[in-house]
Amino acid sequence: MTDAHVERLRGLQPEPRREAQAALAQAATEGVDVMVTTGLRSFAEQSRLYAQGRTTPGNIVTHAKAGQSYHNFGLAFDFVVVKNGRAIWDQNHKDWKRFVEICKAHGFDWGGNWRTFKDYPHLQGSGVPDLSELLASFPHVWRGTPARSRWRTATNLPVRNGSRDPDPDSGHGLVAQVQRLVLVDDDGYFGDVTEAAVSSFQKTHDATGARVPPGTALAPTGVVNRATFNALEAADRAADDAEAAEGGGWLSTAEIAEAIDANATGVARNWPRIARALRHAGMRSRAAKIAAAATVRVEVGSGFEPINEFGDEDYFTRMYEGREDLGNTEPGDGARYHGRGYIQLTGRANYRTYGDLLGLPLEDEPSLALQPSVAARVLVEYFAQRGVDDAARRRAWKLVRRKVNGGLNGWPLFKASVDALRVAA
Ligand SMILES: [Zn+2]
Repeated sequence: MTDAHVERLRGLQPEPRREAQAALAQAATEGVDVMVTTGLRSFAEQSRLYAQGRTTPGNIVTHAKAGQSYHNFGLAFDFVVVKNGRAIWDQNHKDWKRFVEICKAHGFDWGGNWRTFKDYPHLQGSGVPDLSELLASFPHVWRGTPARSRWRTATNLPVRNGSRDPDPDSGHGLVAQVQRLVLVDDDGYFGDVTEAAVSSFQKTHDATGARVPPGTALAPTGVVNRATFNALEAADRAADDAEAAEGGGWLSTAEIAEAIDANATGVARNWPRIARALRHAGMRSRAAKIAAAATVRVEVGSGFEPINEFGDEDYFTRMYEGREDLGNTEPGDGARYHGRGYIQLTGRANYRTYGDLLGLPLEDEPSLALQPSVAARVLVEYFAQRGVDDAARRRAWKLVRRKVNGGLNGWPLFKASVDALRVAA
């Protein structure tokens, strides 16, 4: 199913989504044409709708505040019957009745059966918990992916799983700040990845931000309270100071882009994350920066963004399925763990190893490896595992390339990039 309206089902939780898709497919075989008009509705959208006709212009369209609709939890969808390209808003139409019947067989309750405030276009999962129960266990009740419904606005510490910045896109909120400090993508939504990164920091740092052995470290709660926040800031300041002591900054992203003939936007978006990851791994030499920038340029091209290995499921299956050397032990592993990032992380075993090293759930969520901050940490960890930093500081550039590539693929471009960066700096 590829129709645009079916996309609206994507935000539903897995089970109702599957059932709704099956119901639509069955309706189609019977010549009953239906369009999905609403699926998941975030808390913010629900609040906007509720305000309409009350505090903002327009007619009142809903009686439900945020959290008072099953749409907010991805457990309901709305539809309309379509005939000859036109929407039929008539619940007595035979196609309307038929679709409701089909959906009942697929485990949905129909809003047309409600005693008060009938809602004819509305279907919701039957046997789902009460809204009060959903709200009480919120945000952990959520199992779907585009989980934007579950967030609580964060304006103060502590922040934790389920917190979000008031204006996530601005990048100015508390959550985004924490995310930059723990080196994950700063999208302003504190989810499982941020939580894992915070725990991993807490396990290895004390209240002064110093790296310490387990036992003397902070409690790994995954929650950022004042003590953890101060420790995060102190650790970051220490990394900055150490870099300044060794000669400080380097080229601007525009200068890097110019030197290695790469897309300026891509470099501006990705380089600061790579630089940060290098700094936090203690790779503060100019040579390490040169090695990283030239490696990324060669590995992903002039776009300077993490890449998804090119190919479709058949191709990945042919290439990687069942490969013991990659730890692909389960059916589907070949496609699931295809190459991602600046250097292509490939195979279940590698996703697991790097996930463990970085304290991130890469094996469960392989697509994380496409996030610039995560890709940067994988790259830097890879450097650390192979002693790339040492080779770079000795200006052993062929060795750098060999350590990353295994051979000398891309050597001319790599060498040209290294030279250009050395001249530019
Ligand atoms: Zn509805």
